[in-house]
Amino acid sequence: MTGGAILPGATLGVLGGGQLGRMFVHAAQAMGYFTAVLDPDETSPAGRVSHIHLRTGYDDAAGLAALARLCAAVTTEFENVPALALQTLAGHIRVSPGADAVAVAQHRAREKAHFVHCGVPVAPHAVIQTPEQLAAAGAELLPGILKTATLGYDGKGQARVGTRAELAAAWERFARVPCVLEQQLALAFECSVVLARGQDGAVVSLPVQRNLHRAGILAVTEVHGQNMSPALAQQALAASTSIANGLGYVGVLCVEFFVLEDGRLVVNEIAPRPHNSGHWSIDGADVSQFELQVRAMTGLPLTMPRQHSPAVMLNLLGDLWFAHGDAPAAPRWDALLRLPGCHLHLYGKLEARRGRKMGHLTVTGATPEAARATALQAAALLGIAPF
Ligand code: ATP
Ligand code: MG
Repeated sequence: MTGGAILPGATLGVLGGGQLGRMFVHAAQAMGYFTAVLDPDETSPAGRVSHIHLRTGYDDAAGLAALARLCAAVTTEFENVPALALQTLAGHIRVSPGADAVAVAQHRAREKAHFVHCGVPVAPHAVIQTPEQLAAAGAELLPGILKTATLGYDGKGQARVGTRAELAAAWERFARVPCVLEQQLALAFECSVVLARGQDGAVVSLPVQRNLHRAGILAVTEVHGQNMSPALAQQALAASTSIANGLGYVGVLCVEFFVLEDGRLVVNEIAPRPHNSGHWSIDGADVSQFELQVRAMTGLPLTMPRQHSPAVMLNLLGDLWFAHGDAPAAPRWDALLRLPGCHLHLYGKLEARRGRKMGHLTVTGATPEAARATALQAAALLGIAPF
């Protein structure tokens, strides 16, 4: 559906109640919208701060019907929402991103095919759905990473394989579900682009973000003029725009890249929503990725975000709650918040678990050096390894 903008006062819906949904709700409410979250978990981070929380499954007909009745537009905060749910809603109200684009992001093989179609380089890879394809996978793909085609996140559904025997064993362990085998690349670093594309095709984006992953999970994002060469950043922005255009995308999209040791840029994957690597924009830019999501879904104008402060974002994983033993204890936020430019975000999750994203800390500073120095002090206080 197209047409005029949906203005503040209307109710906006989001499928999924995790931290991304929570920060979307915060942005929407700040702009004067009412919000509805659909998530079966009664303690979900977004459900607890939304005006309305529908506690049903994502394929529950009554839940979806209620969402369509209550809301003027709906978006999503996680990529594994059933495509059918988006299609059903789209019959009644404005839904962004669309089911077709989400379906591409949900499937690694389709995603890679789309990148190739857009002329953006990808890692050498093979789709593995049959024993014949397994046997035919080229030797140049080893050592490699076997990834399930669907449902992977934070490094889950992935196995590093060095030999054909390990590859075969890993595929068995994944119960022979469709997979993609990727050559393991020599990475210099990783980066990502968060952009928003409107119904009219206009694209705006945040500056390119440099990301450090640890054990398959994002640990640190740095955004400032010294994080990569302008030429490389330009290349990443252009590639991201063509990927979004090729999907006819409407909404916020994140494109993750690898920068190889030889300097080449390779696209890794896309997320059809705001992304952990864009969280810094709440505190470091004049338009956050969540405000962009609100603007894109309502048809409000998209203005180019301006970064006003160099920023370093540290993820706060549940591991930090176990620094002093097996009984979980929250880090000393009071000591941390003595540091200048620290913006603490906690997602209201009731239970800390290792590897669970409990919150994030964005450190802003007048210069990249200042932001980095304070972020390193914060990391030391929290027990996060230096970067
Ligand atoms: P996300 O949490 O971003 O959804 P994911 O589980 O979907 O993660 P990927 O982004 O595919 O997984 O991989 C996670 C991390 O593993 C990457 O950020 C990178 O550090 C590493 N990695 C993945 N594929 C490769 C590769 N082909 N070569 C080298 N490193 C890789
Ligand atoms: Mg990833």
